[in-house]
Amino acid sequence: MSGITRFALSASWVVPVEPEGVVLKDHSVVIEQDRIVEILPTTELDQRYPGIATESLDGHALLPGLINMHAHSAMTLMRGLADDLQLSVWLNDHIWPAEQRWMGPEYVHDGTQLAVLEYLRGGITLFNDNYFFPDVTAAVTSQSGMRACIGLPVINFPTVWAQNTDEYFARGLEVHQAFKGEQLISTAFAPHAPYSVDNDSFLRIRKLAEEMDVPIHLHLLETAGEIADSERDYGLKPLARMQQLNLLDTRLLAVHMTALNDADIETVARHGVNVVHCPESNLKLASGICPVAKLIAAGVNVSVGTDGAASNNDLDLLGEIRTAALLAKGFSGDPEAVPASAALAMITINAARALGMEAQLGSLLPGKQADICAIDLSAPETQPIHNVISHLVYATSRQQVQHVWVAGRRLLKNREPLTLDVDEIVSNARSWQKRVGKNHASKAAG
Ligand SMILES: [Zn+2]
Repeated sequence: MSGITRFALSASWVVPVEPEGVVLKDHSVVIEQDRIVEILPTTELDQRYPGIATESLDGHALLPGLINMHAHSAMTLMRGLADDLQLSVWLNDHIWPAEQRWMGPEYVHDGTQLAVLEYLRGGITLFNDNYFFPDVTAAVTSQSGMRACIGLPVINFPTVWAQNTDEYFARGLEVHQAFKGEQLISTAFAPHAPYSVDNDSFLRIRKLAEEMDVPIHLHLLETAGEIADSERDYGLKPLARMQQLNLLDTRLLAVHMTALNDADIETVARHGVNVVHCPESNLKLASGICPVAKLIAAGVNVSVGTDGAASNNDLDLLGEIRTAALLAKGFSGDPEAVPASAALAMITINAARALGMEAQLGSLLPGKQADICAIDLSAPETQPIHNVISHLVYATSRQQVQHVWVAGRRLLKNREPLTLDVDEIVSNARSWQKRVGKNHASKAAG
């Protein structure tokens, strides 16, 4: 058996997520190479695996690595640059001009590294990204050892990444080819939004996504204002337009979905569209509220994303599901809506299902990839422990994430990253603060 890495993690609790609501007390997860081979009571470990290398994680809960379903990772460098504004003003007057000025490979490299560090320290092992220079995002992620689904951006206006639609497609396909076969990296088409992408581009994406068998990651119905604009420009509401373009199916990751009526919810459910809920970004920009309780009742697969750090402003999925669960209750008037176990499913198995990766990721089961985070519940803030899943959703801080493994490789140990240089990442962020902040301040004053 030499050459095969096999080890066990023995924890006070294992929360496999599948079946939903289950907590296994004093269990061990046995990992061989990149996979989970067995989950068993710790009392049986020695007998089944004599002499196995074991790490005891007393007071910890093990759960699947968390999956952030909507990210613009490099936007960490614009965290706090422009707050408390309407989406159109925020984008047109602040974010897009700053991106025009600063975006490039170095910016995306430094911003993504900062995001990856924040993800790992928050228990996140996979993010679904949509940003320019996806080649740089993919390379940074791959070097860190974590996973990403890298969006191939398409938008009908020029940026430093691509001058025109053909160039967006050509460069996107190059990135897809370059990272094909990498275990930790997958790709998706990432058309920006119905108001910024034309019908020809959507049809091209539809055809290519099918050929390449990749998801389509799209901002859809972020605000009610999108509907009137779409009726003016296309004579159709955005959802009806997407339906006419044959885009509504299980491949679609529809992000935001705030302006939905009951008929829309029925349409979304019937076509198997995956909804990605970004509660904190929607609240901060006052974009609207996604009717999560109704979507779940209709059988829609709902997952959760942080959105970019410029509109959230943290990349904290534990915080995000707490907001999602509370908002669903308040908005529906039903305290039973989105119970803790359902909230936890949104950042694990539902997310994996949306990406078509549920056979490998999203829960702790034998045969699945060993993407695991260990959360220390022994802190006073999470005592006493009547219910582990309740604590994870309603009381635990991401600061309690202690260790993270991706594909069986340890990436975070006692909150310290093993593949990233914290000092260098923070120093790079500070240097961008001087450049971006100074320019932005003088512009705002003028
Ligand atoms: Zn977004």
